[in-house]
Amino acid sequence: MAELIINNIGKLYRPREGEVEVFENASVRIEGGVFSDISERPLTPATDAAKVLDAGGMVAIPGIVDPHTHAVFAGDRTDELLMKLKGLSYLEILSSGGGIAKLLRERIGEFMRWGVTTLEVKSGYGMDRDTEVKQLQAALEVETLSDVVTTFLGAHIIPPEYSDKREEYVSFLTDVMIPYVAERGLARFVDVFCDRGVYTLEEAEEILRAGKKHGLLLKIHSDELENLGATRMAAELGATSADHLLLSEEEDLQAMAEHGTVPVLLPGTVFTTFLPHYPDARRMLDAGLPVALATDFNPNCPLQNPFFVAQLAVFKMRMMPEDVLKALTVNAAKAIAEPQRGMVEEGLPADLVLLEVKSFTEALYRLGYDPIRVVVKGGKVVRRWVNGAR
Ligand SMILES: [Zn+2]
Repeated sequence: MAELIINNIGKLYRPREGEVEVFENASVRIEGGVFSDISERPLTPATDAAKVLDAGGMVAIPGIVDPHTHAVFAGDRTDELLMKLKGLSYLEILSSGGGIAKLLRERIGEFMRWGVTTLEVKSGYGMDRDTEVKQLQAALEVETLSDVVTTFLGAHIIPPEYSDKREEYVSFLTDVMIPYVAERGLARFVDVFCDRGVYTLEEAEEILRAGKKHGLLLKIHSDELENLGATRMAAELGATSADHLLLSEEEDLQAMAEHGTVPVLLPGTVFTTFLPHYPDARRMLDAGLPVALATDFNPNCPLQNPFFVAQLAVFKMRMMPEDVLKALTVNAAKAIAEPQRGMVEEGLPADLVLLEVKSFTEALYRLGYDPIRVVVKGGKVVRRWVNGAR
């Protein structure tokens, strides 16, 4: 059983649903891909074959979890930045699904480089059965060390050819796609973009109910451009998460608290789409909600660096460092029903990131600074920057 010891961790952050515990001068022992010993004194190898890494006083946090990405879009959309700057509204370009596996592998590798060891990937750029299935399959089968959780988002936009027969497309989703995807285990979640100009509250409810009936867990894109009541509706159906939440009201927060729905906030999208305000994270935290953060990586928000998201959370939403850390780890894991992720506990999978800072707060304070030095996934060192040691 491969053994890895990391000694001399200046501060080891152990986020849990309640508090974040911090171990000083900590060490971890990893065996068989899980943490087997977490200590506040140096550990000695149990076997000759053990690898020992000196963290040089760096900070360690759990592997970051990104619970909301649209990482399967096709192609590079750099040109769209120019279009946005010229004042054009974002054009949804339907993808062909071609070459997606290669693109996806590169993108997941880039996430890993930023310390993201588990991520959610949504379909939703196909809009026909074969392309949607191809996207989900690519996300499930991609050769990567990361853990990938898939979400069926056939209800991303209304395909233009269905604009005057919407109910036909909704029936196609509820009667054909959802059973197909659920039966084949292609997705854990079903999701709907319920907002002005996309899916109505009634359509969204129909789609989520169909997903639930077929054993999928539920997610919703809600309260981004208008509050249609989608957060409350989804929470009452038992949704695992509700995402965006710029315009959520008191009753939405209450419904989430009552039904255990995790609020997932995506400040990167607010930033890139010039929206007027950020979600009210403080109010959600005061209501006792386990706020999670995500990149929303998509052509409109080409963001894969979770520290940029974290800095928006601090500077635009006034989140405290401890809440930000939980939002990137334990709460994000909860948002994708991966309760073993986002924590550093004996017996749990050993995903860990070493940061070259003296505290997690310093990583939030230093704007644009890249603190990542070592990424451990399932007990293996998968990224290491040689100059990183202090
Ligand atoms: Zn999204």
